[in-house]
This record gives sequence, structure tokens and C-alpha cells, in this order.
Amino acid sequence: MTQDDGAIVFDVQRFSVHDGPGIRTIVFFKGCALACAWCQNPEAIRAAPEIYYDDERCLAGCARCIDRCRDGALGDRRPKRVDFARCTACGACVDDCPAGALRIVGRTWSARELLTEVLRDRPFYASSGGGITLSGGEPVLHAEFLTRWLPLVKREGLHVVLETCGAYPFALLEPLLEWVDLVFFDVKAADAERHRTLTGKTNDQITQTLALLLRRGAAVEVRMPVVPGRNDDAENVAQTAKMLGRMGVGRVTLLPYNHLWEAKLPRLGTQQRPLGIRPPPGGHYEELVRAFAGHGIAAST
Ligand code: SF4
Ligand code: SF4
Repeated sequence: MTQDDGAIVFDVQRFSVHDGPGIRTIVFFKGCALACAWCQNPEAIRAAPEIYYDDERCLAGCARCIDRCRDGALGDRRPKRVDFARCTACGACVDDCPAGALRIVGRTWSARELLTEVLRDRPFYASSGGGITLSGGEPVLHAEFLTRWLPLVKREGLHVVLETCGAYPFALLEPLLEWVDLVFFDVKAADAERHRTLTGKTNDQITQTLALLLRRGAAVEVRMPVVPGRNDDAENVAQTAKMLGRMGVGRVTLLPYNHLWEAKLPRLGTQQRPLGIRPPPGGHYEELVRAFAGHGIAAST
């Protein structure tokens, strides 16, 4: 997951106003312990760099890339030009593509390089009360890198938000907490088996991590990505509220569903499949807020 002197990051997004207070730069780390069926960043799940092919950009009849590939991973059958199982993500095809249809998602950033990047917007952080947000994928899987990088970030006075799924031993997260100002902790489903169906793993370790994090007195905002028809029913709301109540959590932020991730699937060698979920009817999120309130939890969107 981590390299000797760097971490694999697949995107650095500047000027975000949605992932924590103020104006923020989001660092997306590659690799995740879960494989949520609705993952908004399917390119985040695998730890290693991978090829991304956008057939809509490809110039018909060009075929320059095919000869560049020594692994026989490229052919002229569109839109399935890439044999993802053969691709080694060597990147040889990328520079020769005149249309930018091929790219490698994820590369190793050194600690110094990533620091320089996030410092670019320091004046905006200062004027807006912003900072940086660690996202992914699962940033905590890069704990070894973060124990070297976050002290440099804090020395520059930046505010740090960590977005996490909690699916790792707490011992991995604990040493990072002294450099993290706020944790966004996602919960998806309270029932262990439902959780496994939706994400690939039960939630035992996740609830344990959350409980220990709260016991440490960390600043935590619990969030629930709402996936219509998968986790927004009365049963899961009641079970989730009960679980949070037991841990002394009185609030949850509901993250509305967004289906745009499905467009990325044919461009990646991912196991994820489209869910075809339609936006819920108007008033659905307000209903969920009321349902959580009925169980003593203050929910908001
Ligand atoms: S080089 Fe780029 S534009 Fe040409 S065939 Fe390959 S993907 Fe398409
Ligand atoms: S990244 Fe390398 S192995 Fe993969 S398709 Fe391109 S040239 Fe072939």
C-alpha cells in the first residue's frame, strides 16, 4: 500500500467546499479495505495504479496505442479496447494517445511533492477556515506514509480532516490522531450480514474502531451515505440509530445518493456493476431525518 518514500494517490482536488469546513484540497489515496457496491470512486478500490480508458474520447481508426502495448492488452474492438486482465499498467500507451483516451489512475507521490501541492492554496485556507481533507479509498491504509507526512502538514498550520470507513484495526488510526482535527466516519448498515452484502465485509471491526475513536475523545462526525433501496429502510434506520445511541452518538449526517459513478465502470477493470438506482422521490431525505429523530438521533443532510 505505501512505498518507501511515498504513497499512491489518484487525485488531488483543489477548491472543494463540500468535504469539511472552508475551502479545501482533497487528497484521494488509492486502495480500500471495503468494496462498496455504490462506491463513488471505483478507481479508488484497488491499491495499485491501473489503466483507465475512455472510449468516447478515442479517435476511430487511430490505433496508435495497439502497437505500443507489449502485453497484448489493447485491441481494435471498441468499446472493449482494453483487456484489463492483461494490462500491467506500464503506461507505455498513454503518451502516444493523441486524444487523451488512455491514462493511468494513481501514481506515487513523495511526501515533499504532496506537501508542495497542498500548500498551493494556503491563502484560501486561511481566508475561509479551510484546509486539507484526506480521502480515497481509505487514507488510513497509508498510515506509515501519513505518520511521516502529517507532521509536515501540521508544521505548516493546516487544518486536517480525515474521511474514513473504519475497516482496519484501531491501532493503525490511533497514532495519526494527534495530527487530525476532525474525522468524518462513515457508517453504512448496522446489521453485520447486510453490511457484508453491501460492502464485502461485516461491520464488526468498523464499530469497534468507531467506539475506540469516540472513547479517545476525537472530534468525530458520523456520516451515512444513503443508498436508496439498500440502506434507507425503516429497519436499518432503527438499527443504525440504536447502534449510534449505544455509543453515545447523537447526530448523523446523511449523504445524498449520486449515481454518476456508474459512468466510470466501463472505463476500468473493476468488479463493480451498475446498480441502476434512481433518485428517490422529493421529500425522501426529510422523511429519513424524521425517522432518525423518532429514534433519538438528530440527522441532517
Ligand atoms: S491511441 Fe488513443 S485515440 Fe488512438 S486508438 Fe488508442 S485510445 Fe484511441
Ligand atoms: S498500460 Fe501498458 S500494459 Fe496496459 S494497455 Fe497500456 S501499454 Fe498495455
